[in-house]
Amino acid sequence: MKTCEIDNCSKPVKARDLCSMHHQRLMRHGDPNTVMPRRTKTLVACSWINCTSHAVSKGLCVKHYYINRVLKRNDQVDVR
Ligand SMILES: [Zn+2]
Ligand SMILES: [Zn+2]
Repeated sequence: MKTCEIDNCSKPVKARDLCSMHHQRLMRHGDPNTVMPRRTKTLVACSWINCTSHAVSKGLCVKHYYINRVLKRNDQVDVR
């Protein structure tokens, strides 16, 4: 069985001496060695003042999201 002609790739050939993955790259980019950069989520900065961490939830980083939750809980206690 023939294997993909790309170095370090031992997958079975699908078309043009390339495996399905590398053949797809050839079709898409015209070059089987092109690897698309992985799409990373665009990081949103924490909206807390002077915080440079990236936000994970509701515009706040892990730490501030937690603090915000605790503060809200305390607010509710105060209201009562
Ligand atoms: Zn391959
Ligand atoms: Zn933060």
